[in-house]
Amino acid sequence: MRIVIIGAGLLGVSTAWFLAKSGNEVVVIDRRSAPALETSFANGGMLTPSQAAPWNTPGIAWQILRLLGQDESPIRIKYSRLAGLAGWGTAFLRYSKSEHFRNNFQKNIRLARYSLDQVKMIRQQQGIVYDHSHQGTLKIFQSREALRHARALLEIAAPETIRYELLDQQAVIALEPALEPVSDTLAGGLYFPDDEAGDAHRFCLELANASSLAGVSFLYDTTLTAMVRQGNRIQSVRTTSGDLTADLYVLAAGSYSRMLAQSINLRLPIYPVKGYSLTIDTVNTPGRLPVLPVIDELRHIAVTPLGQRLRIAGKAELAGYDTTIDSRRSGLLLKFFRQLYPELASGLEPDAIQPWTGLRPYTCDGVPLIGSCSIENLILNTGHGHLGWTLAAGSGRLIADMISGNRPGLDLTPYALSRFE
Ligand SMILES: Cc1cc2nc3c(=O)[nH]c(=O)nc-3n(C[C@H](O)[C@H](O)[C@H](O)COP(=O)(O)OP(=O)(O)OC[C@H]3O[C@@H](n4cnc5c(N)ncnc54)[C@H](O)[C@@H]3O)c2cc1C
Repeated sequence: MRIVIIGAGLLGVSTAWFLAKSGNEVVVIDRRSAPALETSFANGGMLTPSQAAPWNTPGIAWQILRLLGQDESPIRIKYSRLAGLAGWGTAFLRYSKSEHFRNNFQKNIRLARYSLDQVKMIRQQQGIVYDHSHQGTLKIFQSREALRHARALLEIAAPETIRYELLDQQAVIALEPALEPVSDTLAGGLYFPDDEAGDAHRFCLELANASSLAGVSFLYDTTLTAMVRQGNRIQSVRTTSGDLTADLYVLAAGSYSRMLAQSINLRLPIYPVKGYSLTIDTVNTPGRLPVLPVIDELRHIAVTPLGQRLRIAGKAELAGYDTTIDSRRSGLLLKFFRQLYPELASGLEPDAIQPWTGLRPYTCDGVPLIGSCSIENLILNTGHGHLGWTLAAGSGRLIADMISGNRPGLDLTPYALSRFE
């Protein structure tokens, strides 16, 4: 079967790899000059089934209101963008009801676990290197109440349990000695031993190379300008490199999937949620380096060691498709990092820090869109929100199995667009 994939981010590349392995003819198009140069470029680097909870937790409306009022809020809304946000935002709040949340959390956990197995398999089979580590994730808390709340949310996911250990202050420092200077501020932590970490961009580069060797054609610097729909099918796609035809088309264009789908009257409930990261080169940085990924519940940041670099990620902004780097917002990430790792931060050279921003393709229920839709030969693999790295390999495998007539490792129904009908 001939398949055109739109987008060479985590989702497009993973799909291409598994489709090629199943003997399909695959063409991937991307407007950029190489894979993973948009949201998959410098994300938090965490492969975390432990963080599979959709962001719309029960009570999120009050939490957003409270956070919006704070100077250094992790959440920001550009009020000039409210018009495009209303429908998605209302649904986002609706899906925070306990029964939806539990259901959606479980869907993500199942997919995250399956996905991690696929990542391990790719790593073992291909021997690809992407600064990966498998030491788990540590989540730290500054108050007992926040810790109790986090545990309660994890219990909601039962029976799809996530393995974790409850840590007191001493145990947190024993696990991550680089936090010792701030030990007095910590109430405890949760350690998730099954999580992994790694550089998504490097993973995509390596997997795209392997896919090319397996026969996939990558058309870079190629923008999709229109999908030509005839009745219930896509007839062809128009690109800046000419028209392309295929038996099937896979839409994996991240936050832009919504716009592209809109042009053929297909509504995808995705909104771009902007985030920031800093990448710090630690080669010449004196001081104790962190040894494992840490999520700070209070500051809403994640700090992940990636080989000889550290990745600091956070922030959630509803600002449409604006991808400019606001130095005040990236400066806040640095400020929080300095608060958390004061010893390490005191030796940092400013030119060792690389700021970045990306748009998380967020569905209104926090679960990705994977599988068929009302257009017969269009397959969706998009809307993975804050979990695109965690869920990519599994999503790619599921799509490839579905298309190739193999029995998918998970039932795809819970991830279908039709759940919104
Ligand atoms: C700050 C931040 C931190 C994050 N941290 C984590 C984390 O720790 N763990 C985790 O699991 N996830 C994380 N994520 C989420 C994850 O990065 C995303 O879910 C994932 O990268 C989305 O991948 P994608 O392939 O769907 O989209 P993208 O990577 O954006 O890929 C889409 C591709 O489509 C192409 N494209 C778009 N429109 C067109 C067009 N018209 N023509 C041709 N090509 C087009 C783009 O060029 C792009 O390459 C984070 C995200 C952010 C922003």
